[in-house]
Amino acid sequence: DEDRLVIDEEEARVVRRIFNLIANHGWSCYRVPDDLNALGIPTRFKKLERVLRSKKYNRIYENKWTRNNVKSIVTNDLYYKDEYIYAQNSKFDFVKPVIIKKEPIISKRIFLKAKKQLAANRSDYNNRVKTMYILTGRLFCHRCKYPYCGGRYSTKKGIVFYYGDLGKKKEVTSSPCSSAAVRKELIEDIIKNDIKYFLLNPDNIKKYILNKSKKSLNNDFKAIEFENKKDKINKDIDRLLELYLNEDIPESIRKKGIADKLKEKERELKIIDNVIFELRNKEKLEKLR
Ligand SMILES: [Zn+2]
Repeated sequence: DEDRLVIDEEEARVVRRIFNLIANHGWSCYRVPDDLNALGIPTRFKKLERVLRSKKYNRIYENKWTRNNVKSIVTNDLYYKDEYIYAQNSKFDFVKPVIIKKEPIISKRIFLKAKKQLAANRSDYNNRVKTMYILTGRLFCHRCKYPYCGGRYSTKKGIVFYYGDLGKKKEVTSSPCSSAAVRKELIEDIIKNDIKYFLLNPDNIKKYILNKSKKSLNNDFKAIEFENKKDKINKDIDRLLELYLNEDIPESIRKKGIADKLKEKERELKIIDNVIFELRNKEKLEKLR
Protein backbone atom coordinates (compact mmCIF):
# COMPACT_ATOMS: atom_id res chain seq x y z
CA ASP A 1 0.00 0.00 0.00
CA GLU A 2 1.05 3.57 -0.71
CA ASP A 3 2.46 5.66 2.14
CA ARG A 4 0.89 9.08 2.47
CA LEU A 5 1.79 12.13 4.49
CA VAL A 6 -0.98 13.14 6.85
CA ILE A 7 -2.00 16.77 6.84
CA ASP A 8 -2.18 18.53 10.20
CA GLU A 9 -5.56 20.20 9.67
CA GLU A 10 -4.92 22.89 12.25
CA GLU A 11 -1.71 23.97 10.54
CA ALA A 12 -3.32 23.67 7.13
CA ARG A 13 -5.98 26.17 8.20
CA VAL A 14 -3.28 28.67 9.17
CA VAL A 15 -1.52 28.18 5.83
CA ARG A 16 -4.79 28.70 3.92
CA ARG A 17 -5.49 31.82 5.95
CA ILE A 18 -2.07 33.27 5.05
CA PHE A 19 -2.51 32.56 1.33
CA ASN A 20 -6.04 33.95 1.37
CA LEU A 21 -5.02 37.22 3.06
CA ILE A 22 -2.20 37.81 0.59
CA ALA A 23 -3.72 36.50 -2.65
CA ASN A 24 -7.33 37.63 -2.22
CA HIS A 25 -7.03 40.63 0.10
CA GLY A 26 -3.72 42.06 -1.07
CA TRP A 27 -2.09 41.99 2.35
CA SER A 28 1.68 42.31 2.71
CA CYS A 29 4.06 39.96 4.49
CA TYR A 30 4.40 42.72 7.10
CA ARG A 31 0.71 42.87 7.87
CA VAL A 32 -0.08 39.15 8.07
CA PRO A 33 2.03 38.44 11.21
CA ASP A 34 0.09 41.11 13.13
CA ASP A 35 -3.14 39.32 12.26
CA LEU A 36 -1.85 35.89 13.29
CA ASN A 37 -0.33 37.18 16.53
CA ALA A 38 -3.49 39.10 17.39
CA LEU A 39 -5.53 35.93 16.95
CA GLY A 40 -3.08 34.09 19.21
CA ILE A 41 -2.26 31.52 16.54
CA PRO A 42 0.89 29.73 17.71
CA THR A 43 3.92 29.26 15.48
CA ARG A 44 5.10 25.70 14.90
CA PHE A 45 7.96 26.27 17.34
CA LYS A 46 5.54 27.27 20.03
CA LYS A 47 3.37 24.23 19.40
CA LEU A 48 6.39 21.96 19.79
CA GLU A 49 7.20 23.88 22.98
CA ARG A 50 10.64 24.71 21.73
CA VAL A 51 12.41 27.75 23.07
CA LEU A 52 14.21 30.15 20.78
CA ARG A 53 17.25 31.37 22.61
CA SER A 54 20.07 33.61 21.51
CA LYS A 55 23.35 32.87 23.24
CA LYS A 56 24.92 35.97 21.77
CA TYR A 57 22.34 38.36 23.17
CA ASN A 58 21.47 36.17 26.14
CA ARG A 59 17.75 36.41 25.61
CA ILE A 60 14.78 34.21 24.87
CA TYR A 61 12.72 35.13 21.86
CA GLU A 62 8.97 35.29 21.95
CA ASN A 63 7.47 32.68 19.69
CA LYS A 64 5.67 35.15 17.51
CA TRP A 65 4.92 35.24 13.82
CA THR A 66 7.34 37.31 11.80
CA ARG A 67 7.50 38.51 8.22
CA ASN A 68 10.06 35.78 7.50
CA ASN A 69 7.79 32.98 8.76
CA VAL A 70 5.02 34.20 6.51
CA LYS A 71 7.29 34.70 3.54
CA SER A 72 8.78 31.21 3.79
CA ILE A 73 5.27 29.74 3.78
CA VAL A 74 3.89 31.81 0.95
CA THR A 75 6.86 31.10 -1.33
CA ASN A 76 6.89 27.35 -0.65
CA ASP A 77 5.40 25.45 -3.60
CA LEU A 78 5.06 22.34 -1.44
CA TYR A 79 1.66 23.58 -0.31
CA TYR A 80 -0.03 23.19 -3.67
CA LYS A 81 1.85 20.10 -4.83
CA ASP A 82 0.44 16.63 -4.28
CA GLU A 83 3.74 14.99 -3.51
CA TYR A 84 6.68 15.53 -1.24
CA ILE A 85 10.10 14.37 -2.33
CA TYR A 86 12.05 13.16 0.64
CA ALA A 87 15.85 13.53 0.59
CA GLN A 88 15.72 15.29 -2.75
CA ASN A 89 19.01 17.10 -2.24
CA SER A 90 20.91 14.49 -0.28
CA LYS A 91 24.69 14.71 -0.36
CA PHE A 92 24.96 10.94 -0.15
CA ASP A 93 24.74 8.79 -3.26
CA PHE A 94 23.20 5.86 -1.42
CA VAL A 95 20.24 7.89 -0.24
CA LYS A 96 17.74 7.80 -3.05
CA PRO A 97 14.94 10.38 -3.10
CA VAL A 98 11.58 9.01 -2.04
CA ILE A 99 8.36 10.45 -3.43
CA ILE A 100 5.57 10.56 -0.89
CA LYS A 101 2.03 11.38 -1.94
CA LYS A 102 0.13 14.02 0.01
CA GLU A 103 -2.99 16.14 -0.23
CA PRO A 104 -2.41 19.65 -1.55
CA ILE A 105 -3.32 22.27 1.04
CA ILE A 106 -4.04 25.05 -1.43
CA SER A 107 -4.66 25.31 -5.16
CA LYS A 108 -1.92 26.20 -7.60
CA ARG A 109 -4.08 29.11 -8.74
CA ILE A 110 -4.03 30.76 -5.31
CA PHE A 111 -0.30 30.06 -4.93
CA LEU A 112 0.43 31.91 -8.18
CA LYS A 113 -1.94 34.71 -7.23
CA ALA A 114 -0.11 35.21 -3.92
CA LYS A 115 3.21 35.22 -5.75
CA LYS A 116 1.92 37.91 -8.09
CA GLN A 117 0.67 39.97 -5.14
CA LEU A 118 4.08 39.81 -3.43
CA ALA A 119 5.73 41.05 -6.63
CA ALA A 120 3.18 43.88 -6.82
CA ASN A 121 3.90 44.82 -3.19
CA ARG A 122 7.59 45.00 -4.03
CA SER A 123 7.13 47.31 -6.99
CA ASP A 124 4.70 49.42 -4.95
CA TYR A 125 7.38 49.73 -2.27
CA ASN A 126 9.98 50.70 -4.87
CA ASN A 127 7.70 53.40 -6.25
CA ARG A 128 7.14 54.73 -2.78
CA VAL A 129 10.86 54.98 -2.10
CA LYS A 130 11.49 56.66 -5.44
CA THR A 131 8.86 59.37 -4.93
CA MET A 132 10.62 62.65 -4.21
CA TYR A 133 8.74 65.42 -2.47
CA ILE A 134 10.92 68.32 -3.56
CA LEU A 135 8.80 70.90 -1.73
CA THR A 136 8.69 69.29 1.71
CA GLY A 137 9.88 71.86 4.24
CA ARG A 138 9.61 74.65 1.65
CA LEU A 139 5.84 75.05 1.57
CA PHE A 140 4.15 76.60 4.59
CA CYS A 141 0.52 76.95 5.55
CA HIS A 142 -0.61 80.56 5.36
CA ARG A 143 -2.92 80.11 8.34
CA CYS A 144 -1.08 77.99 10.91
CA LYS A 145 2.51 78.44 9.61
CA TYR A 146 3.17 74.70 9.76
CA PRO A 147 5.02 73.15 6.80
CA TYR A 148 3.30 71.13 4.09
CA CYS A 149 4.68 67.59 3.85
CA GLY A 150 4.46 64.85 1.24
CA GLY A 151 1.89 62.07 1.52
CA ARG A 152 0.05 59.50 -0.56
CA TYR A 153 -3.11 57.45 -0.61
CA SER A 154 -4.44 54.65 -2.78
CA THR A 155 -7.60 54.85 -4.85
CA LYS A 156 -9.11 52.39 -7.28
CA LYS A 157 -7.63 54.43 -10.11
CA GLY A 158 -4.14 54.42 -8.62
CA ILE A 159 -2.01 56.23 -6.08
CA VAL A 160 -2.57 59.94 -5.38
CA PHE A 161 0.44 61.95 -4.23
CA TYR A 162 -0.10 65.19 -2.34
CA TYR A 163 1.31 67.77 0.06
CA GLY A 164 -0.66 68.10 3.28
CA ASP A 165 -0.68 70.65 6.10
CA LEU A 166 1.25 69.34 9.10
CA GLY A 167 -0.83 71.68 11.26
CA LYS A 168 -3.83 69.51 10.41
CA LYS A 169 -2.56 66.54 12.37
CA LYS A 170 -3.94 66.00 15.84
CA GLU A 171 -0.58 64.61 16.96
CA VAL A 172 1.08 67.91 16.04
CA THR A 173 -1.30 70.52 17.43
CA SER A 174 -4.26 70.62 19.77
CA SER A 175 -6.14 72.99 17.43
CA PRO A 176 -5.86 71.38 13.97
CA CYS A 177 -5.84 73.70 10.96
CA SER A 178 -8.46 73.41 8.22
CA SER A 179 -6.27 74.15 5.18
CA ALA A 180 -6.70 71.78 2.24
CA ALA A 181 -4.08 69.46 0.83
CA VAL A 182 -2.76 70.07 -2.67
CA ARG A 183 -1.90 67.56 -5.38
CA LYS A 184 1.82 66.99 -5.72
CA GLU A 185 2.05 67.29 -9.50
CA LEU A 186 -0.15 70.41 -9.52
CA ILE A 187 1.90 72.49 -7.07
CA GLU A 188 5.23 71.16 -8.33
CA ASP A 189 4.34 72.10 -11.91
CA ILE A 190 3.53 75.64 -10.80
CA ILE A 191 6.85 75.93 -8.96
CA LYS A 192 8.77 74.38 -11.85
CA ASN A 193 7.23 76.88 -14.28
CA ASP A 194 8.09 79.67 -11.88
CA ILE A 195 11.70 78.52 -11.73
CA LYS A 196 11.81 78.20 -15.52
CA TYR A 197 10.48 81.74 -15.85
CA PHE A 198 13.17 83.05 -13.52
CA LEU A 199 15.95 81.19 -15.28
CA LEU A 200 14.84 82.53 -18.67
CA ASN A 201 14.86 86.14 -17.40
CA PRO A 202 18.28 87.02 -15.92
CA ASP A 203 17.00 90.46 -14.85
CA ASN A 204 14.54 88.80 -12.51
CA ILE A 205 17.31 86.87 -10.81
CA LYS A 206 19.28 90.07 -10.21
CA LYS A 207 16.21 91.80 -8.79
CA TYR A 208 15.45 88.78 -6.65
CA ILE A 209 18.93 88.58 -5.15
CA LEU A 210 19.07 92.34 -4.47
CA ASN A 211 15.65 92.33 -2.88
CA LYS A 212 16.49 89.35 -0.74
CA SER A 213 19.71 90.80 0.69
CA LYS A 214 17.98 94.14 1.32
CA LYS A 215 15.26 92.40 3.28
CA SER A 216 17.59 90.50 5.59
CA LEU A 217 19.70 93.65 6.06
CA ASN A 218 16.54 95.46 7.14
CA ASN A 219 15.77 92.78 9.66
CA ASP A 220 19.33 92.97 10.90
CA PHE A 221 19.03 96.72 11.50
CA LYS A 222 15.70 96.29 13.20
CA ALA A 223 17.11 93.62 15.49
CA ILE A 224 20.05 95.86 16.46
CA GLU A 225 17.65 98.71 17.14
CA PHE A 226 15.66 96.52 19.50
CA GLU A 227 18.81 95.20 21.18
CA ASN A 228 19.71 98.83 21.98
CA LYS A 229 16.25 99.42 23.40
CA LYS A 230 16.67 96.31 25.50
CA ASP A 231 19.97 97.61 26.92
CA LYS A 232 18.31 100.88 27.85
CA ILE A 233 15.44 99.12 29.64
CA ASN A 234 17.88 96.90 31.51
CA LYS A 235 19.72 100.02 32.74
CA ASP A 236 16.39 101.53 33.83
CA ILE A 237 15.60 98.35 35.75
CA ASP A 238 18.99 98.45 37.50
CA ARG A 239 18.38 102.06 38.52
CA LEU A 240 14.87 101.31 39.79
CA LEU A 241 16.16 98.33 41.77
CA GLU A 242 18.74 100.55 43.44
CA LEU A 243 15.99 102.98 44.41
CA TYR A 244 13.79 100.15 45.60
CA LEU A 245 16.52 98.87 47.92
CA ASN A 246 17.43 102.36 49.20
CA GLU A 247 16.09 102.57 52.73
CA ASP A 248 16.37 106.37 52.79
CA ILE A 249 13.31 106.48 50.56
CA PRO A 250 10.00 106.07 52.42
CA GLU A 251 8.68 102.53 52.22
CA SER A 252 5.28 103.62 50.87
CA ILE A 253 6.94 105.10 47.76
CA ARG A 254 9.21 102.09 47.30
CA LYS A 255 6.43 99.51 47.66
CA LYS A 256 4.01 101.35 45.40
CA GLY A 257 5.50 103.70 42.79
CA ILE A 258 8.88 102.07 42.27
CA ALA A 259 7.57 98.51 42.33
CA ASP A 260 4.92 99.36 39.72
CA LYS A 261 7.51 101.02 37.51
CA LEU A 262 9.71 97.89 37.79
CA LYS A 263 6.87 95.63 36.73
CA GLU A 264 6.13 97.86 33.76
CA LYS A 265 9.78 97.78 32.62
CA GLU A 266 9.87 94.01 32.92
CA ARG A 267 6.77 93.76 30.74
CA GLU A 268 8.43 95.97 28.11
CA LEU A 269 11.52 93.78 28.26
CA LYS A 270 9.47 90.67 27.60
CA ILE A 271 7.78 92.24 24.56
CA ILE A 272 11.09 93.36 23.11
CA ASP A 273 12.60 89.92 23.68
CA ASN A 274 9.75 88.43 21.66
CA VAL A 275 10.22 90.93 18.85
CA ILE A 276 13.95 90.22 18.68
CA PHE A 277 13.26 86.49 18.66
CA GLU A 278 10.83 86.85 15.75
CA LEU A 279 13.17 89.08 13.76
CA ARG A 280 16.04 86.63 14.17
CA ASN A 281 13.77 83.78 13.08
CA LYS A 282 12.63 85.70 10.02
CA GLU A 283 16.24 86.33 9.17
CA LYS A 284 17.04 82.63 9.43
CA LEU A 285 14.01 81.70 7.32
CA GLU A 286 14.94 84.18 4.62
CA LYS A 287 18.47 82.83 4.47
CA LEU A 288 17.00 79.36 3.93
CA ARG A 289 14.81 80.46 1.05
ZN1 LIG B 1 -2.59 75.25 8.38
